[in-house]
Amino acid sequence: MGERVTWETCPGCGRPAAVGRLDGVPVEFDCPRGCRLTADLVSAMFGRRRPARRFVR
Ligand SMILES: [Zn+2]
Repeated sequence: MGERVTWETCPGCGRPAAVGRLDGVPVEFDCPRGCRLTADLVSAMFGRRRPARRFVR
């Protein structure tokens, strides 16, 4: 339990791709166009929905 799929924009082709999440953590990425992302990239892209401002010191 706790697994669900969300649709996110694929960074490879810009189309919706399925992201399987377990407790909110992305564990699977499935683009209909066949793009492949590494686990690190999937995690970086879809892992946290925080405001992207933390890079500013
Ligand atoms: Zn794609």
